[in-house]
Amino acid sequence: MIDADPRPVVLVVEDEVGYQEALHVGLTVEGFAVVGAETIGAARELLPRTRPSLVLLDVMLPDGSGIDYCREIHETTRTPVIMVSARSSEVDVVLGLEIGAADYVTKPYRLRELVARMRAVLRRPQVGPGDERVVLGDLVIDLVRRTVTRGGVPVELSRKEFDLLALFSSHLGQVVTREQCLDALWWGLDLADSRTLDTHVKRLRAKLEVDPPRPRHLITVRGVGFRLDP
Ligand code: CA
Repeated sequence: MIDADPRPVVLVVEDEVGYQEALHVGLTVEGFAVVGAETIGAARELLPRTRPSLVLLDVMLPDGSGIDYCREIHETTRTPVIMVSARSSEVDVVLGLEIGAADYVTKPYRLRELVARMRAVLRRPQVGPGDERVVLGDLVIDLVRRTVTRGGVPVELSRKEFDLLALFSSHLGQVVTREQCLDALWWGLDLADSRTLDTHVKRLRAKLEVDPPRPRHLITVRGVGFRLDP
């Protein structure tokens, strides 16, 4: 009765046996169906067969680089990937390459934090080939390459600013509540001060709008949230 299993499948691509075992136990307890691969070769076979909701991908694998494999996954599927690296310096490399990973964690990580990030990623709408670009007037948002241009000129956004913009883009013309924003981007953790969200929206407006105090695209819906208008 595998087809009736409602649990989200996570493919763990990890060559360290200790991590592989701990994740198998920990993620099963958290309600995931865990499929393990210790090499990219094994993952290539398992990905189409198990159709995971999420891939947890180590950067350094015995038969290749997780960075290259992440690119490969995104050529054919919209499965989100969380990259796992042993050093924070690797995270900088991974971020700089814009490989389209949904998130990143550095070893050693706490299971609770990892699970919170996994759930946040699973709540986000997924993008893939065909729906990767959102065009709003002279603004072009590329959700796969994680780039934004205004009138053809690249706009520099921080990781959180981009994630927030991607969230709004996926609900174009619809209200996204403050709770949805906090859930998706700050993993639903209590932000004692949700002004952090307002700060990010303000920065986005400054970078994207022609006249930031009178925004045409990124609209505040008072008391509820925000709306991205075409
Ligand atoms: Ca490794």
